[in-house]
Amino acid sequence: MSKEILSNKVAKLKESATLKMAGMARVLAEEGHEVINLSLGEPDFDTPFHIKEAAWQALREGYTKYTPVAGLMELREAISYKFEKENDLKYSPHQIVVSNGAKQSISNIANAIINPGDEAILFAPYWVSYYDIIKLAGGKPIILNSAIENDFKIDPNELENAISEKTKFILFSSPCNPSGSVYSKHELSQIADIVSRHPKLMVISDEIYEYIYFDTPPISIGSFEQIKHQCVTVNGFSKGYAMTGWRLGYMCAPTWLSKSCVKIQGQCTSGASAFGQKAAISALTGPKDAAEEMRTAYKRTKILAEEMLNNLPGVKCNDPKGAFYIFP
Ligand code: PMP
Repeated sequence: MSKEILSNKVAKLKESATLKMAGMARVLAEEGHEVINLSLGEPDFDTPFHIKEAAWQALREGYTKYTPVAGLMELREAISYKFEKENDLKYSPHQIVVSNGAKQSISNIANAIINPGDEAILFAPYWVSYYDIIKLAGGKPIILNSAIENDFKIDPNELENAISEKTKFILFSSPCNPSGSVYSKHELSQIADIVSRHPKLMVISDEIYEYIYFDTPPISIGSFEQIKHQCVTVNGFSKGYAMTGWRLGYMCAPTWLSKSCVKIQGQCTSGASAFGQKAAISALTGPKDAAEEMRTAYKRTKILAEEMLNNLPGVKCNDPKGAFYIFP
């Protein structure tokens, strides 16, 4: 028996480039080399103490069992409240699905929507996993390019032209991994206008970096009333709360889509860990000073990295307005 039995799907699948780089860095470090690892989107902070404390408390209280696939109701209520208060998004807890990371939420959505040959539009530069998540779901990624002169943001006219009968959704992150670009209210309204002219088109808005911004806070495209029924908002605890290893993400969507994502997740992984979800409640309802401290530190690092890179001959960067990346 050998690898010929592997499915075509997996044979064509690329290993996650960032996970591969992280693996190489780990090996080099184990060999005794001094490695500065710039591969994974990993906060250089530990999870705030009160969140860890909530997990310990939950374990003591016996939160060690299966939870509903969509997540503990108490957590979904806290997320519903957060969406309304911070993002101007009104979704009932029944429209919210907690997952094992934003990555899983995006994968659930892609699998719920894509039929073989369907297209999905990505704004380049994009987070590497988007491409293969779409491919795995049987779809065809359509790449919309952008330029540094335009702060790596897409041209709305080009978006309009890229939409075809086969386009199921557009998927982008703002703040963006890897460019750090943040779409303004006006820019999002231009995208929303286009989407509203295509009633069968969905928008997946990945807002995992929402707390890491250096200027004005990012806006949720789902808050534009005319396209609310076409929007899915994805978020998670990895970046804003330095909880990458906890594997906790979530999404809100129209009921038909949330239900479908629950169906998929229920057959693949079930609900996220019980004690992790209790800790997530504490993250959402507890003090926010840690997030604020991290934001200030990221801003300092950004200014330093930007200055160093821009001083290198032949290297040019846009000015990142959020996330913790710089795209030379
Ligand atoms: N979206 C973007 C844009 C990301 O950069 C990442 C992590 N690198 C994720 C989603 C995945 O987040 P999670 O850890 O919640 O799966």
